[in-house]
Amino acid sequence: MTARILVVDDIPANVKLLEARLLAEYFDVLTAENGYRALEICEQTQVDLILLDIMMPGMDGFEVCERLKANPRTQHIPVVMVTALDQPSDRVRGLKAGADDFLTKPVNDLQLISRVKSLVRLKSLTDELRIRAETAQNIGMEDLLRIHDGRLDEVGQILLVDGRASSQERIIRALKPIAEVVAMSDPQAAVFEAAENGFDLVIVNANFDDYDPLRLCSQLRTLERTRFIPVLLIADQGAESMIVRALDLGVNDYLIRPLDPNELVARCLTQIRRKRFNDRLRTSVKQTIELAVTDGLTGLSNRRYLDNHLKILFARAQARGRPLSVCITDIDRFKLVNDTHGHDAGDDVLREFANRIRSTVRGADLACRFGGEEFVVVMPDTPADVAVVIAERLRAIIEGKPFALKGADVALNVTASMGIATVGPGIETPEQFLKHADRALYEAKKAGRNRVVAAAA
Ligand code: GH3
Ligand code: MG
Ligand code: MG
Repeated sequence: MTARILVVDDIPANVKLLEARLLAEYFDVLTAENGYRALEICEQTQVDLILLDIMMPGMDGFEVCERLKANPRTQHIPVVMVTALDQPSDRVRGLKAGADDFLTKPVNDLQLISRVKSLVRLKSLTDELRIRAETAQNIGMEDLLRIHDGRLDEVGQILLVDGRASSQERIIRALKPIAEVVAMSDPQAAVFEAAENGFDLVIVNANFDDYDPLRLCSQLRTLERTRFIPVLLIADQGAESMIVRALDLGVNDYLIRPLDPNELVARCLTQIRRKRFNDRLRTSVKQTIELAVTDGLTGLSNRRYLDNHLKILFARAQARGRPLSVCITDIDRFKLVNDTHGHDAGDDVLREFANRIRSTVRGADLACRFGGEEFVVVMPDTPADVAVVIAERLRAIIEGKPFALKGADVALNVTASMGIATVGPGIETPEQFLKHADRALYEAKKAGRNRVVAAAA
């Protein structure tokens, strides 16, 4: 995992020290001697993480951080505050300014590298989602980047796994202003709870008498239904090696006892916010993908989806020696519908036609709008004779009942012609497969329409 890290400090010796340690881990390192220069670099280059000194002449670290987090272009870059002041109030102020983490000077090597790695890993996930959403030209991108909006600031849902009633109470009290907390003392039961209910964060307090908290962390990371929930670990002073292992497992953050309530709140808020940001991106990516492969008029899959998916179905049928058939159907004299009743009426017919296809084919079949008034049904595990029966059934369903038009009393008699092909000798590619079906369709049209023709094997 390589990443570009910007080290910001007004004292050259501090910069050198951090730079050397990061270079030893093969990170790419940039440096800045003041806040202005740091902001400039972040605007101009791709930076994956910032190690930011607090006390600097001119603009201090808090302000640099606030500015970075207020700018949509730099908002997503994780910021680690590096400070000589081990004051809880400074940490809280840093987190309020939007810092993702902090390290105290003199910087502990393990802490430096493990924190940096965990934040870089998280950032690469966020980046990927952002790029995908952008590539898909998602119109809501501006909204997505405004991470403090709407639901993103609603009260969080936190699952607290804590073996002691007294500390449960203290944590719930501290988190009251920002979250609803469900507390559990049985880690195994907690895994189920986390999988069943949509939490924004799981806090694991490592204080069980006879249970390894890392087991819980690892299960939360492995399970499909919990792997996107952030996990915050609370550990004892000196439990460094456990923390390193936890971060390697994918735990998002940690706190050391004794807990500072303000810091706890700030850390939880950061995790919850990031979770919602990522959720929103993920949803948008999913919606974009769905839109890109769906035909807007009929809701069936579109040609792009067919082209891609047919390749997979074709290869699978060949590999397993299973039959595969395809039916191309084209509405007869459809131009006449448009010419006589208008384009909107034509659209009504196309929608109803799609509905009838949908209700006729099996769940495993893939129905698509191929374009215009042509539709394609791909039928896995279906030999030619069965495909003919299915197509004949569809043909009868189209012909059998006139198509109603919205806002008009007339119903139209509609028929369609169908061409069928089945994978076999002479068909080596998905393109040839479709071509055979298209040729059969042409035969059906030529022979008088409203009929099914299967391509000769
Ligand atoms: P044939 O029986 O030979 O298939 O005759 P046809 O009239 O159905 O075929 P032709 O290809 O000549 O005309 C297809 C018509 O489908 C022409 C086009 O305007 C219409 N069409 C294509 N897409 C749409 C659409 O999305 N909505 C509507 N209303 N009409 C469409
Ligand atoms: Mg037609
Ligand atoms: Mg046509």
